[in-house]
Amino acid sequence: MTIIFLLAQPLISNCQILERFKNHVEFLASDRLEGRGPGSRGLQLAAEYIYQQFEDIGLLPPYEKSYYQEFTISGQEVNETNVIGILPAKTPTNQSLVFTAHYDGLGIRHDGLGVNASHGEDSIYNGALDNAMGVAALIEMARQFMSDGSQSQNLVFIATAGEERGHYGSIFYVKNPVFPLDHISINLNIDGFCIWGKQKEYFMMPRQGIDYVDKIDSIASIQGWVYNPPDFVDGLNKLFDATEFLSRGIPAITIWSGNESDVVIPEGQLPLGRRTHTPYDEVNQYWDWGGVEAQLALYKTIAYYFLEYPDNINVINPELFGH
Ligand SMILES: [Zn+2]
Repeated sequence: MTIIFLLAQPLISNCQILERFKNHVEFLASDRLEGRGPGSRGLQLAAEYIYQQFEDIGLLPPYEKSYYQEFTISGQEVNETNVIGILPAKTPTNQSLVFTAHYDGLGIRHDGLGVNASHGEDSIYNGALDNAMGVAALIEMARQFMSDGSQSQNLVFIATAGEERGHYGSIFYVKNPVFPLDHISINLNIDGFCIWGKQKEYFMMPRQGIDYVDKIDSIASIQGWVYNPPDFVDGLNKLFDATEFLSRGIPAITIWSGNESDVVIPEGQLPLGRRTHTPYDEVNQYWDWGGVEAQLALYKTIAYYFLEYPDNINVINPELFGH
């Protein structure tokens, strides 16, 4: 890797991108979408919204003119649906780089899940950070890659379903991939962060069982990011879609929030560990969107690195990531 290569990547500084990004998050995390719980009308509306975005951007649908990859979970009547858009490589190849961001959420709950489940009368787990924000990033990155032009690999953008209940969408994808599994260079899995302005701290997992931790960290550090994990997680966190790729020996990472010790959390607002998976994960007036550009630039730079250098990254211990 050369520093020149990384600095040469276009920096994203476009008010329109930020405006669109906010609109995606505010719609997907609105009460109208009911927390995007299993089988809900809200979940279906979210899928339709992402479908429409992929179509507007001009991504190709993988299946007979549809962006939907439907599947069933045993014991459940309603179908689940991954939404998949493709930006084909400039010359035909089997090689793909796969972005994932789950669009499902916990829905409406009255059973007290979450550290701070009591939120007055509010029982909607809006899932704004987790993961309306990741989906917004997925959509806006797709748009940017489309305007950059085709790359040397196929880019696959997947909004996954069923993540919160057991990674069902990513499990289905690795069994039914659009491009062959053994030609996936890497899976970049995206969950939201940076809601308190420009953060420097990030968390990249896994930290073991793979041989490219240093590569990711040095790419991030060039952009000023500092690795500092939240204190309630470990480096072998298996609670993300990336796990389903890793357990099959496919390189994958999840980028997530750091410890938030570098930002000022507004008074009365909760830190990450007490906000996630509660009704408090919703957009409010305290959110500072000033970190979004840097977040997108980080994902994009990592992607560009592995588009340029797809070889010599390995999952050394896939068995670490099995169920
Ligand atoms: Zn999530």
